[in-house]
Amino acid sequence: MPRQKSKGLSRFSAVGICGGRLFYPLFSEKERASYGKGCPDTEERFYGARLVFWSVLILAVCGAFALFGSRGKEKAVNVSGEPAQKPVVILDPGHGGIDGGAVSRDGTLEKDLNLAVSKELGRLLYAQGFQVVYTRTDDTMPDAGRAGASRKMNDIAARLDVMKAHPGALFISIHMNNYPGESPRGTQIYYAAKQTGSLALAEAIRSSVLRIQPDNKRETVGKTDGIYLLEHASGTAVLIECGFLSNPTEIEKLNDPAYRTRLAAYLCAGICSYAFPEENDAV
Ligand SMILES: [Zn+2]
Repeated sequence: MPRQKSKGLSRFSAVGICGGRLFYPLFSEKERASYGKGCPDTEERFYGARLVFWSVLILAVCGAFALFGSRGKEKAVNVSGEPAQKPVVILDPGHGGIDGGAVSRDGTLEKDLNLAVSKELGRLLYAQGFQVVYTRTDDTMPDAGRAGASRKMNDIAARLDVMKAHPGALFISIHMNNYPGESPRGTQIYYAAKQTGSLALAEAIRSSVLRIQPDNKRETVGKTDGIYLLEHASGTAVLIECGFLSNPTEIEKLNDPAYRTRLAAYLCAGICSYAFPEENDAV
């Protein structure tokens, strides 16, 4: 029924400003007159033209918002003209190569556990969005053929150089503890007392590890001497003694890949809670 259809379109144009005041100026008096009034066919064509016009205009405006909106976001991300930097964590598996570190009664070498835990931790940190840098990724001393000092000092110097090459990074050195008696157990965390953030990072990791070691009473210990690596750290740094090779129960756990993954997950959670405190507050 053409007439009813036409009335419906008229009502549409009457209630909306788009159909009247804004649309009319785009047509000359002559054009409007040519569409006529009262003729169902021409009036319908007229309002049909309005609908087409407004559909195109709305699409164009939405497109413009989408285009300029996305440009704005790009600018917000790249204000400095450089891609956003992910936080860097340097993982330092202690010992390596001819330096096996501590040895357990079952013959497990500390250097191997240090590397295994570090790689697992690195995998988890990477998944959390960190850039992960290692001081070594295989069974070698990272002294890079240095000369002029003892092999051990060259080794530590090379690790410190990695730290210097990444200012602002979090340095996490992974070790295993040892003791003449069998009873001591649990993670012990040392931190570079002279470097900002080290205490907070150590505490964050300790809090997280306590969830799998509720009986662990070992407080974090700030070092200004006694541990050369922490004494000479150029940035936020901690050294984590993951467990005691001298404790039969603990060495059994540390030799279990599933436990190492669990331990690494809690170390990772502690590092995340330090690096992204606002996200942890929200949880
Ligand atoms: Zn060690």
